[in-house]
Amino acid sequence: PATPAPERPGMLDRLIGRRADAEPRRELDDAMLEELEEMLIQADMGVETALRVTANIAEGRMGRRISASELKGLLADEIARIMEPVARPLPLYPKRPQVVLVVGVNGSGKTTTIGKLASQFRAAGKNVVIAAGDTFRAAAVEQLQVWGQRAGVPVMTAPEGSDPASLAFDAMTRAEAEGADLLMIDTAGRLQNRQDLMEELAKIVRVIRKKDASAPHNTLLVLDATTGQNALSQVETFRKLADVSGLVMTKLDGTARGGVLVALADRFGLPIHAIGVGEQIDDLDAFDARDFARALVG
Ligand code: GDP
Repeated sequence: PATPAPERPGMLDRLIGRRADAEPRRELDDAMLEELEEMLIQADMGVETALRVTANIAEGRMGRRISASELKGLLADEIARIMEPVARPLPLYPKRPQVVLVVGVNGSGKTTTIGKLASQFRAAGKNVVIAAGDTFRAAAVEQLQVWGQRAGVPVMTAPEGSDPASLAFDAMTRAEAEGADLLMIDTAGRLQNRQDLMEELAKIVRVIRKKDASAPHNTLLVLDATTGQNALSQVETFRKLADVSGLVMTKLDGTARGGVLVALADRFGLPIHAIGVGEQIDDLDAFDARDFARALVG
């Protein structure tokens, strides 16, 4: 489904109203709160979160006349408060290799994100191995090889259609033999057959645990921010398929209204390890709660 046009900076200015002479103010009453709620819902924040954020802003302030900049400040504070606990980089463990399983629907940006992460870890002096675990999509494997070359990281592949778990096992063996710091395993994202995918992911986990009972150390779910509220149901689905430990949100450079991140943080509390802000190798940023909150309110 097409994403509606984004609510860009200015929405709160419109709510309060604009006048050339002085900074306009509007009384904080029920009608205004309702409009604010509606705006937050339109911005993908989800009904529950929008209601709570609005209630928090209203508390102790009903009847007061506030300006757009005051309202922006209050809203940014509320959003930052929800986002701060989840703004956490991917934790690195002394464990070698640290195994990072990467899951998500096709097209969400898994391959790209793995390439970007590999490049960042390489730059930090880590030895990285990638396993192209989506063995059913030849194009995905080729794409990952291209990213591996860009990042200067070896990509282990297996013949098309072969068992991803056996590739994961071989990759684990190689990563251990080479003393690699990190092993990132790409996985299939076919949600059409959930049972299959669940079994496939479970088998990958089972075989890598034969090598290291504590693996995988992270299970990253990659989500496309332009899918709006769908991101919420994807989290729900993937949490049933795998032990998701954190999120990467891609395509925040585009038309995505980042509001869905607030809904995600509020509902699931899963760490947001990074955000994708473009198609190039350096277009992966740490998630900063304050910057994000300020940008979102405009
Ligand atoms: P996968 O199927 O999950 O592996 O998805 P890909 O990594 O192949 O990405 C799907 C498409 O999204 C590609 O065209 C990527 O260039 C694009 N993409 C991935 N991440 C981002 C991002 O952060 N911003 C933008 N604008 N595009 C992205």
